[in-house]
Amino acid sequence: MTKEQKSVNWHELAKALKPRTQAFIDGKYVPAASGATFDCVNPANGLVIAQVAYCDAPDVDAAVASARKAFEGGAWSRLAPAARKKVLLRFAELIRKHREELALTETMDMGKPISDSMKIDIPAAANCIAWYAEAIDKVYDEVAPTGHESLALVTRESVGVVGAIVPWNFPLLMASWKLGPALATGNSVVLKPSEKSPLTALRIAELALEAGLPEGVLNVVPGFGYTAGEALAMHMDVDCVAFTGSTRTGKRMLEYAGKSNMKRVWLECGGKAPNVVLGDVADLERAASAAAYGIFFNQGEMCSAASRLVVHESVKDAMLEKIVAIGKTIAPGDPLDPKTRLGAIVDQVQLNTVMGFIESGKEEGAEVRLGGQRALRESGGYFVEPTVFTGVKPAMKIAREEIFGPVLSTITFSDVEEAVKIANDVSYGLTAAVWSRDITTAHRVAKRLRAGTVYVNCYDADDITVPFGGFKQSGNGRDKSLHAMDKYTELKTTWVDLS
Ligand code: NAD
Repeated sequence: MTKEQKSVNWHELAKALKPRTQAFIDGKYVPAASGATFDCVNPANGLVIAQVAYCDAPDVDAAVASARKAFEGGAWSRLAPAARKKVLLRFAELIRKHREELALTETMDMGKPISDSMKIDIPAAANCIAWYAEAIDKVYDEVAPTGHESLALVTRESVGVVGAIVPWNFPLLMASWKLGPALATGNSVVLKPSEKSPLTALRIAELALEAGLPEGVLNVVPGFGYTAGEALAMHMDVDCVAFTGSTRTGKRMLEYAGKSNMKRVWLECGGKAPNVVLGDVADLERAASAAAYGIFFNQGEMCSAASRLVVHESVKDAMLEKIVAIGKTIAPGDPLDPKTRLGAIVDQVQLNTVMGFIESGKEEGAEVRLGGQRALRESGGYFVEPTVFTGVKPAMKIAREEIFGPVLSTITFSDVEEAVKIANDVSYGLTAAVWSRDITTAHRVAKRLRAGTVYVNCYDADDITVPFGGFKQSGNGRDKSLHAMDKYTELKTTWVDLS
């Protein structure tokens, strides 16, 4: 924490915060057509922060029409990549400039510690936008090797109007993972943030406009999944849906596309990551620390959470002792206190889900080694203790389903074959890790782990340059890296006869 951050009185700033609450359509803030609003609640105290426009089909229609008009008009879609770059770099700079306000908004909206919002979420969102801005005037198209009598160009063109539907766990960052590549490649976007965390998305819309993004290129429609989300995913004039959220909702996106216009559907869904610690792990201290932060960071509300510790029986006790010791130092606390490392769970519904999983673990015979209780009830907020289960069997619910809370399930194995089998035996395949001092063994295991990202002797290492996405029911396509641009472009062949 820098000096500058230490001196900020977040509670004072919170009192003065005036979030944007209306939809952003065609370059203007507007109420929902129905006039309806919904409450946006601070999960740290259960109090309403703001009433936000409750968008539904008519608002989505207006946003899509604006996005289409902007796309066809060409002020953005046909702008030279180098010119788009300048606008997006200004946009990233404005996000950086308003870092404190955006971090405060994010923390109040979804409960994550302010130090994480300041150090991770907001800078990473700005970096993502800037990275795609920098990339866009450096990618080339292709000429196919067809022979002397023809010239065959293989080019990538913007897909058109993109519906981006995003979750609440990293609200601005997940939106940026869509906005960066979608805007850089010349598309218009209608962004539907989660009803649990709509505020930063609404604020950055005007920052994008200020940066020079033409009206209608970025629209934001706050609302619920079954209203605004469904209307967007079913829309006949949306060319592509880029979704991040649960596997259950991701499957619905595929249905919507099938029932409407066969729009492209890109899915980034849930996870149940195995963190495989072999008996020859080189640095137990490091492995334990990575295991603890892999599950407790962001209150465990992470698609990539290291939620299954798959550990060799010879090192299980030593690992657990260290993880529990770390867990004891990460008590849940006021998200606006810069010292807090574990904030509030996003809302009462998610709190109930997490507590339900903890109960099911106990009922199925797993042993609670740490935590297991709701915390800080007097705050009026939704806090859960860091929780560690041991004696978990692969068939138990807490070993198979995504909990999305600070709950670790420890499963032991006796040989590497068994470890690989346990690791792969879930419907998800987003991230995984293997720890071993023998690099050959580590590579062999890494190759066999069915996941989009495998960490070797680390956990949750991250950079915008590497693709992120899942095997199996964790989704399709990839966010981040140059590969993400494939999602927002169509391949076109132009054949010129030279004979
Ligand atoms: P969710 O599926 O409930 O909601 C995600 C978004 O979809 C929200 O904007 C929501 O309003 C909308 N939605 C919900 N139902 C809808 C419907 N019927 N039609 C249209 N839209 C609908 O997920 P969540 O609880 O917001 O987020 C948590 C999930 O996101 C977890 O499963 C997590 O693993 C996943 N996630 C994945 C990644 C990744 O990169 N793979 C990253 C972050 C989160």
